[in-house]
Amino acid sequence: MIEIEDLEKSFKETKALDGASFRAERGKITGLLGPNGAGKSTCLRILYTVMKPDRGVARVDGIDVAREARRARRRLGVLPHGSGLYGHLTARENIRYYGALHGLRRSSIAARIDQLCRVLDLDELLDRPCKGFSQGQKARVALARALIHDPSHVVLDEPSSGLDVMATRRFRDWIRTLRDEGRCVLFSTHLMQEVTAVCDEVVVIAGGRVRAQASLEALPGLTGHTNLEDAFVALTQPGDLS
Ligand code: ADP
Ligand code: MG
Repeated sequence: MIEIEDLEKSFKETKALDGASFRAERGKITGLLGPNGAGKSTCLRILYTVMKPDRGVARVDGIDVAREARRARRRLGVLPHGSGLYGHLTARENIRYYGALHGLRRSSIAARIDQLCRVLDLDELLDRPCKGFSQGQKARVALARALIHDPSHVVLDEPSSGLDVMATRRFRDWIRTLRDEGRCVLFSTHLMQEVTAVCDEVVVIAGGRVRAQASLEALPGLTGHTNLEDAFVALTQPGDLS
């Protein structure tokens, strides 16, 4: 379970997060949906311990990520915005490096790469440098890297940006598989189609605040609308905190 509680974060005059709170449970895909600049990446960065909040707490299975970053990171698989791969390293080296950062033994890293290679179809990519890869290929390698330590929680920041139709479909299948394995999957997006395609639960964020959290089916009803698009527009109007 991921719990975000009253997070605040400012960059000079810009208030990126203004008291954001929500939860994401295991066995569910939770979409963090909001327009550009809503505070999604800031929130996820705080969660995966690369940034400190000014106030508030992020927890993974009850572990305060600011206090026990190493313990929290063990439970978190992270796909940051953009793939974040090292271009001059091969796919295998990129993945192996992350395994080493997580303190895994070489033999278990190799075994896990074999396994991920089958699931994510990485055979022909593994020993090539990442710099020439297409977006879809990068996304596959980045996902393998995020999953190297078999994390119970998977956090993805705009995972399907730049993917073509087929790659997007495959990506959705993978995150459904992660959910079906009982993991907590949390991903951010500014695209409503993404949310309707895969999410069980939706958190709408705008202006650094969570405007609503509900199941995909229940969300429109919260605003008195019948479809998600109208609900999303209503929820993200500046100043509207209904
Ligand atoms: P989102 O991911 O929803 O598009 P972000 O969390 O990236 O939104 O950004 C929220 C707000 O905080 C934006 O106004 C953005 O410009 C600002 N912001 C984010 N990161 C930084 C940073 N490192 N320095 C300055 N401003 C930032
Ligand atoms: Mg972002």
